[in-house]
Amino acid sequence: MAEPTPTVHVVGAGLAGLAASVRLVEAGRRVVLYEQAPQAGGRCRSFPDATLGRSVDNGSHMVLSGNRALLDYARRIGAGDALMELRSAAFPFLDLRDGAEWTLRPGGLWLFDPARRVPGSSPRDYLAALRTLTAGRGASVADRLPPGGPLFDRLWRPLAVSAMNGPVERVSARLFGAVLRETLLRGEAACRPVLTPHGLSAAFVDPALERLRAAGATLSLGSRVDGLRFDGDRVSELSVGGVAVALGPADSVLLAAPAWVAERLVPDLVVPPPGPAIVNVHFRLDEPVRLPGGLPFLGLAGGTAEWLFARDGLLSVTVSDADALAAMPAEAVAARLWPEVARALRLDGPIRPYRVVKERRATPDQSPDSVARRPGTRTRWRNLLLAGDWTETGLPATLEAAVRSGNRAADAALSNGNNPIRRFAPFPVFTMFRRRPIWTDGGAVLARPGPEGQSKKRG
Ligand SMILES: Cc1cc2nc3c(=O)[nH]c(=O)nc-3n(C[C@H](O)[C@H](O)[C@H](O)COP(=O)(O)OP(=O)(O)OC[C@H]3O[C@@H](n4cnc5c(N)ncnc54)[C@H](O)[C@@H]3O)c2cc1C
Repeated sequence: MAEPTPTVHVVGAGLAGLAASVRLVEAGRRVVLYEQAPQAGGRCRSFPDATLGRSVDNGSHMVLSGNRALLDYARRIGAGDALMELRSAAFPFLDLRDGAEWTLRPGGLWLFDPARRVPGSSPRDYLAALRTLTAGRGASVADRLPPGGPLFDRLWRPLAVSAMNGPVERVSARLFGAVLRETLLRGEAACRPVLTPHGLSAAFVDPALERLRAAGATLSLGSRVDGLRFDGDRVSELSVGGVAVALGPADSVLLAAPAWVAERLVPDLVVPPPGPAIVNVHFRLDEPVRLPGGLPFLGLAGGTAEWLFARDGLLSVTVSDADALAAMPAEAVAARLWPEVARALRLDGPIRPYRVVKERRATPDQSPDSVARRPGTRTRWRNLLLAGDWTETGLPATLEAAVRSGNRAADAALSNGNNPIRRFAPFPVFTMFRRRPIWTDGGAVLARPGPEGQSKKRG
């Protein structure tokens, strides 16, 4: 009898799980994808909003043409039409304190053209950022780029906070160096903003689901994986909503759930702790608006709002490192941000209809200590692989990191069998979070109490 095609059980349909699944079906693997939420996309998704009468994104995402793995994934799922690359690279900014406007235009000899730089800056000021490329493991951005000078408030801080969702005194200088290496240092063609005019799901999620369905993958939405059974050096069973799913000898599990979920499913797994919230407020503007700089997005300095994105009659405000804002009631958040929006766009009149989306634990923490806790793709179980923006990618926790981690885990699943096998546990154990372990032979208590599930709190 022919051997059955090995199945990869993918847990989590965020971009890491979707990218891995697409790669696996392309290679002819059987895929079963489990997602606890009723919709796929995880931290990158759109949903219909009744108040605003249109679909909104959980948070505006900044994608750059240098995000090669992400854009390759988008191309392979056939999402090309849902993306809009702006040429050439340009980043308009407005300083809310003094009304100064400028547009950063990286590429070519841009550093020698004052009109393409931050006002008052000199080429030397930019070269200071190269210090992050040689940063030690323990250095924060502020250690390598100390506050002060014309660029700190108007470029390095906004860039670091939005790329790594944390204060410059905390987030890793090495990760910041990776951002520079992947974008600014690769020239204009790697710095072009790539927008999603029809929303995040239309660009990165829906076409992937279609591709997976067409390839015969089983998509199991609304299905929470709540336990793994370990037997010797392999996972032998999943618990899906309390129902056991047995794995065949050649089957594997690709765990692409967030770090705090993986930590509770996998014994002794070391993961980075959760990082701060990101808050988005979508205001519905019924009049046409033009943002300073003439592009559909705008960086802001000197206020609470950090980025504005205009799309489909909505003006969306993003604030990263936003635990304090996320603790406020939705009305207070909107009331705090609206005056900044009105000032930037020179709008009169009352606050417009809005929707506040608070994504708590929007990314893992990205301090040097937390980055050191990122695990690799392979685990000590030969058929258990890890993916997600919290795994070791050398990048900040972004869509690009999620897709790269998914690709890498899929490649590892495809080469399984060549996995180094480390025998470690003589007893089978079955982990379960929320409750105590439902089954354990080894005497170990593996479940840890705590919050579970996707970071999704809407104000
Ligand atoms: C508001 C916001 C703004 C952002 N802005 C940007 C940006 O501008 N640019 C950028 O590149 N990145 C940005 N990011 C980061 C980016 O969204 C994430 O890095 C990326 O989406 C993470 O993907 P992931 O697949 O690793 O994790 P997730 O998207 O979290 O996917 C994990 C999935 O696993 C599911 N799951 C959890 N537990 C279980 C279980 N037990 N069983 C089954 N399924 C389970 C979850 O529901 C979820 O769907 C932003 C994030 C947020 C929240």
